[in-house]
Formats: sequence, C-alpha cells, structure tokens
Amino acid sequence: MKSNIAEGFQEIREQNIMKVKEAKEQGQKMVGLYCTYCPKELVLAAGAIAVGLCGTREEPIAFAEKHLPRNLCPLIKSSYGFAVSDTCPYFHFSDLIIGETTCDGKKKMFELMADLKETVVMNLPQNPLQEASLELWASELRRVKELLEERFQTELSDEKIRAAINLTNREARVMKRLYDLNKARPALISGLDMLTVSWQVGFNVDREEGIGMLEDLITRVQENAAQGGTAGAAATPRILLTGTPVGLGSEKIIALVEESGGLVVVMENCGGYKTVDILADESDQRDPLRVLAEKYMKIPCSVMSPNRGRLELIDKMIDEFQIDGVIDLTWQACHTYNIESFWVSDLVKQKGLPFLQIETDYSASDRETLRVRIEAFLEMVK
Ligand code: SF4
Ligand code: SF4
Repeated sequence: MKSNIAEGFQEIREQNIMKVKEAKEQGQKMVGLYCTYCPKELVLAAGAIAVGLCGTREEPIAFAEKHLPRNLCPLIKSSYGFAVSDTCPYFHFSDLIIGETTCDGKKKMFELMADLKETVVMNLPQNPLQEASLELWASELRRVKELLEERFQTELSDEKIRAAINLTNREARVMKRLYDLNKARPALISGLDMLTVSWQVGFNVDREEGIGMLEDLITRVQENAAQGGTAGAAATPRILLTGTPVGLGSEKIIALVEESGGLVVVMENCGGYKTVDILADESDQRDPLRVLAEKYMKIPCSVMSPNRGRLELIDKMIDEFQIDGVIDLTWQACHTYNIESFWVSDLVKQKGLPFLQIETDYSASDRETLRVRIEAFLEMVK
C-alpha cells in the first residue's frame, strides 16, 4: 500500500514557484544558498527569501560538463548545470548567491557561477578547534551582513538577527522531533517519505507555514502509530545513512535499501540529522554574529579538519535509533567524505555492526550492481 505520510509535501517545490514570483513582483528579495554553513539567519533578518539550491538531479549535469570536468562531484555539476542552463526557477529568481569555500570543487565552481549571477563566496575556515577560525568566521558573517544591508537597502539590527535565530531554531527543533519519531521500533516513517518531507519543506517561502506543516505531520504520524501504523516490522533492518547529502532525484541508495527490505530510519548527512541539535544560544546576549559563528563552527562536515564531531554524532545516533547497519555514501570525486569513510568504518565495526561504503553518482547506470551489494549487505544485517 502506498504511504500517504508525505501527502501535502510532494508538490511544495512546484507550488512555491508562483509564490516566489509574486513575492518578487512585490519587491521581496531572494538569496540562493548551497551549503549548511551558509548563515541563513542573516538572509532572513534582511527580509529576503532563503532557498537551498544544491543540485540533486542528473538532468542538468550534461550542461555543466561543457564547463566543468566530468570527474567532479555530481552535486557540484548538478548545481552548476541548473544555473548555466537556467532550468531552476529558484536560481533564476535569486538576486544573490552566497557560497562558501568548502571543498575545492565547490569553491572553484562558484568562480564560474559568478559569471552568471552576483555571487559572494564566504571564506570558511577549516579547523573548527582554533579560536582564529571563530574570529575569521565571525568577520565573514559581518562582511555578509554589511553586503546584505547595502545590497537590499535594509538594516540588520541585532533584534532582527535574534528573531531570525529564533525562527531557525524552531525549524531545527521541529525537524528533530520529526526525525526522532523513528527512534521507535518498528520505525514510523520510511526513509523515502522522510526525505520527501525534509527536502520539500525547504522550498516553503513562508517558513512559519513550513513549521506548522511539520507539526501537523508529527501529530498525524503519532495518531497513525497509535492505531498500529508503522513503516516496517520490528525485524526490518534499520539502516543509518551517512556521508554526502541526498535530495529528491539523488535518492537511489535509499530507494534500493527500501526496495530490498530494509529501512533508512535516519540520515546523518546534511538535510538529515547533522544540524538539528546545533542551535544558536538564544539566551546569549553577546554580539549575535559571534553567537552564530560559534554555532556554524560546530557543524561536523568532512570539509573540516579535524572533524571529530561527525564520529561522535554517528556513535550517538547508532544507539538512539537502534541501528542495525550503516551505509556511508560518497559522491564520486568527493575526497573529504571518501577519506573519512576509513574512520566511520572503524567506528561502526567497533560497535559490532555491518558497514558498507558506496561510491556512486546520480546516474542509474550502476543501479542493479548496487542492488546486489545492498541485498547482500542487508542479508548480513539480518
Ligand atoms: S556536506 Fe558539508 S559542504 Fe556539503 S552542504 Fe553539507 S556542510 Fe556544506
Ligand atoms: S559532496 Fe563532497 S565534493 Fe560534493 S560538494 Fe559536498 S563536500 Fe564537495
């Protein structure tokens, strides 16, 4: 039977294009973002729409490969392909792009993107343990704040930034409550439904409406569970997916796990659980830019060196979500996640669980080979 958990979420991206168009006609500004490190609180404090533009579909990659090497992460090629072919309405309507110097491929791609649209690239420090990194990031936040003020003719008062911090924290808390529903055994939401909800809700122009939709969904899932509705059986293998980000269009690993009788009960990656516990402290009365800088330096992404936080998070999630096996996804040519897989494998094996690393791209060409590997992995898990 087809699940109706994600009902109301499937079409948000398409439906909101009209709302974006109307908002733009009324003078509202829009900023396109490509990374979890992007301080969306500043964009919101400027009264602009903040939208994530990471490419998760294969179709635009051919356009990107006219300018970018083929041997590059599909997320970067898809993102650039949408932009250069002008096939993403959200990129089209963006007034400004904010990028960061995360991995090499992404930061060089932003140099090309700057020829298409005004792009500011924030200098992301990569050692999260150094005080100098915090200072650099706080100064980068100040640079972007001033740029937004100048570009959108507005003032980003501390009060406005604190209000945006509150909104962003409430969004993170409601997402965590939703993800945490799957700590139950049997799980309550399939990985594909969870991805549809979390990916689509980000396109909601009205963020309060998005929070309300998630709260309603949590109530629906709880009511459904009270009547015995679950997403699998108690014995269904519970998989944690970690590694590179996944979105609609690049969900083939989740689909294969669930077609093969397993369930992705939670994702550790960006768009999953990685940041739901990382909140800016609203009671902290210091400069909000400093408070934000501290928040962002805690994100455990593989572009950081060292990046111990990711292993700590995976360790905790394995216990809390009663995980039976871990799959680590690496998009082709993503060196940082590829290398970190060594430590993730070590940790998972120390915890006595099966581990599988998969390196792939957005194409369907290896789908059947991957199916065989995933089926064998699930057999081991069982
Ligand atoms: S995985 Fe790292 S670089 Fe990629 S979006 Fe997340 S935080 Fe940014
Ligand atoms: S998946 Fe890896 S290579 Fe791709 S954009 Fe993210 S950090 Fe860069």
